[in-house]
Amino acid sequence: MDLFDKCARYTRAKEAIAAGYYPYFIPLSETEGTEVTVDGHRLIMIGSNNYLGLTTHPKVRQAAIDAINRFGPSCTGSRFLNGNLSIHNELERKLAAFVGKEAGLVFSTGFQTNLGAISSLVGRGDVVVTDREDHASIIDGCRLAFGQMKRFRHNDMSDLERVLRSCDGVGTLVVVDGVFSMGGDLAPLPEIIPLCKQYGARLMVDDAHSVGVVGEGGRGTASHFGCTDDVDLIMYTFSKSFASLGGFVAGDEDVMHYVQHNARSLIFSASMPPPCVAAVLAALEVLQEEPDRVDRLREIGEKMRTGFTEMGYNIGESQTAIVPVFVGEDAKTFQFWKTLFQEGVYVNPVVPPAVPVNQSLLRTSYMATHTDEQLDAVLDKFERIGKSLGII
Ligand code: PMP
Repeated sequence: MDLFDKCARYTRAKEAIAAGYYPYFIPLSETEGTEVTVDGHRLIMIGSNNYLGLTTHPKVRQAAIDAINRFGPSCTGSRFLNGNLSIHNELERKLAAFVGKEAGLVFSTGFQTNLGAISSLVGRGDVVVTDREDHASIIDGCRLAFGQMKRFRHNDMSDLERVLRSCDGVGTLVVVDGVFSMGGDLAPLPEIIPLCKQYGARLMVDDAHSVGVVGEGGRGTASHFGCTDDVDLIMYTFSKSFASLGGFVAGDEDVMHYVQHNARSLIFSASMPPPCVAAVLAALEVLQEEPDRVDRLREIGEKMRTGFTEMGYNIGESQTAIVPVFVGEDAKTFQFWKTLFQEGVYVNPVVPPAVPVNQSLLRTSYMATHTDEQLDAVLDKFERIGKSLGII
């Protein structure tokens, strides 16, 4: 049998393209933050992770340009051997101080951060415990690790305890998303922490969708719950609020030193490019100078949750700038997505296997820079189209 036979048999995406219901890899020809252009058609963007709207901030853009002029576009090597810049170290120091940890490590993407941190720490004989809704990069980090992987039902503390009981006495790492990327709900850290302590497990929180969104000055979920000292490892990505590309993990000095010398995705991959590093440094400054962006984003999340709920939509347990609108059936979800698209709203349909069968949804997410006028227009369209499709 030819290895490639499976490729010819893979027709699902081709069928969706032929039917005109293919919502992925859409080529954006212009992106101006809250609005994007596709084939000359302008849309309000409520499907990005640009939570603070900093991709268009003049200071962030200029910092990236200046870094290209100073260092060039790439480091052409890994930090381990020949691609470590003084600004990588500066960023680590500043972010560790921001998040409230002794030390931090910068990787080239958030995905690589989770791969490297988890696989280096969870060795043979150890266990890693994940929430069923954890991000794919956490799952892949666990697959790469030599230790055993165990899962618990989403945010279900009695199930977490059941799993932890079975790991008692073994080196254990619990990994959760601080804010879950599809549901926009929070991991209940005040309940997870005592369980980790009781069973001697370490805790890592992926704050990809939390930094800039929740916590004091946007510091993330541990800050939100006031338990930074009880979370062993805090992970950020730079591809969302920080308007760049890269990832970061922070913790105790000796743990970071160990990860630095054992994480293969750090050692054997080229370092974060200079304009990306400079953009994060600038974004961090903006975040600290303009904390009202975080407040505005919170206000927007509240407005949209209230708006959708009053119309009769099911938005699950969202508490943040990610607000899922549950539709149920796949076909109806794609129809809803397409009608919104034609009417100038860009949103992401999420169907199985990313969500359970018959729980398909439209993932909406907001930016601090959205205007009330844009948001009201979005709510109006959701109401009209949702009624015409019989969803509400
Ligand atoms: N963790 C979570 C929860 C994410 O949502 C993502 C990206 N969608 C990542 C990690 C990976 O981050 P990056 O885009 O920087 O690779």
